[in-house]
Amino acid sequence: MSDFIPLSVPNLSGNELEYLIDAVKSGWISTSGGRISEFEEKLAQYLKVKKVAAIQSGTAGLHLAMILSDVGYGDEVIVPTLTFIAAVNPARYLGAEPIFMDCDDYLCLDIEKVADFCEKECDFKRGKLINKTTGKHIKVIVAVHVFGNIVDMYALMKLAQKYNLTVIEDATEALGSYNKETGDFAGAVGDFGVYSFNGNKIITAGGGGAVTAKSSALVDRAKYLSSQAKDDDVRFVHNETGYNYRMTNLQASIGLAQLEQIEEFIGIKEKNYALYKAAGLNLLGFQKNIRSNKWFYSLITDDRDGLIKRLQENNIQSRPIWTLIHTLRPYKQCQSYKIDKAIKYWGKVVNIPCSTNLTKDDIAYVASKIQ
Ligand SMILES: *Cc1c(COP(=O)(O)O)cnc(C)c1O
Repeated sequence: MSDFIPLSVPNLSGNELEYLIDAVKSGWISTSGGRISEFEEKLAQYLKVKKVAAIQSGTAGLHLAMILSDVGYGDEVIVPTLTFIAAVNPARYLGAEPIFMDCDDYLCLDIEKVADFCEKECDFKRGKLINKTTGKHIKVIVAVHVFGNIVDMYALMKLAQKYNLTVIEDATEALGSYNKETGDFAGAVGDFGVYSFNGNKIITAGGGGAVTAKSSALVDRAKYLSSQAKDDDVRFVHNETGYNYRMTNLQASIGLAQLEQIEEFIGIKEKNYALYKAAGLNLLGFQKNIRSNKWFYSLITDDRDGLIKRLQENNIQSRPIWTLIHTLRPYKQCQSYKIDKAIKYWGKVVNIPCSTNLTKDDIAYVASKIQ
C-alpha cells in the first residue's frame, strides 16, 4: 500500500516516454510537428466529430470559443456557479459579465432554472435575449459537465435555439462520457466543445486542451487564432489579433500515448467506483442514460471538514468541491439566480482519491477511514 494516497494523479504507464523521446530526438518540440495533427485526428475519431484544434489548455479553449461566439465588451454569459473558475474567467477576459446559475442533483447546470430565468428575467427582442435587470445582451451559455456527468444537452440546445444563444460545452471533466441512446460524446453536441489535458484529467498531456465545434470552419478559425493569426509564415502577415495558444509537439506526444489508454482508464474508474460503493460509501451516482467516464467520485457527508481532516491525518488527500464562484471576490457583485442546490452540495460533497493507479488495498484503506 502507498504511504500517501493523493486525490488524483496521472497514470503514465503507456507509450508516453517513448513518444516523448521520439519528439525530442526529432527536434520538433514546439508548436509544429507531426504529433499535433496526429493527436487532433485521433481525438476527432474518438469523439466522432469532424475536427478538433489542439491548444495549450482548456482555459485557452474556452477563451477561443467565447471569442468565436462573438462575446465582447458589455455582453453577458450564463454560467454555473458550481464549477472550476476557468469556465468563467474567459468571459471577463473579453469584458463580458457572467450570470450565475444553480446545479441539479448531478452537480450539472439546472436547465429548468436557466429556462425560468430566460423567461421571467429577460426579454427576447429582435432575436436577442436581453437581461431586464441590466439591459445587456446575453449571448452564451457555458454548460460544464461536472465530474464526468453530462448536462442535458438536448434540452439545453432547444432552449438555446429558442433564445438565439450559443452553447459552449466545457467537457474538460467529461472526455469519454457519452449519451447511451444517441452515442453523442460530451462536447460534441453544443456549438463548441472544449477539453483539457491538465495533469488531473482523465487523460493528460502535461497541460493542453482542444476545441471542437459543430462548424468545421470554426474549428479552423480556432486553430488560426491559436497560432497568432498568421496569414503568411514567410513575411509574417497577421490580419487579425491572434493568440499563442497552440499545443506543442511535446504535449501532443504525451497526449497521444494517453489517448491510446482512455478506455482502459475509464474501465478502471468504473471498477474503483464499484469497489467504493461495495464498501458502503455514500457516493453520488452518475446519470443512468450516459456512459460516464466516472472521473471524480463525490462522497456525500454531513461532516465535510471533519472528514477531510481525518483523512489527512491518515495520509489520504481529499477535497471539498470548489468554493461557489458567485461568492468569490471577483464575482460576488454579479447577478445570480435562485442558487440553493449548489450551496447544499458545496457543504456536503468531498472528492475522494480516484486515480487509476489506486490498488485494491488503497481503496479498502480509504473506505475504512471514511466509515
Ligand atoms: C480543468 C478544467 C478547466 C480548465 O482546464 P485547463 O486545461 O486547466 O486550463 C476548465 N473547466 C473545468 C470545469 C475544469 O475542470
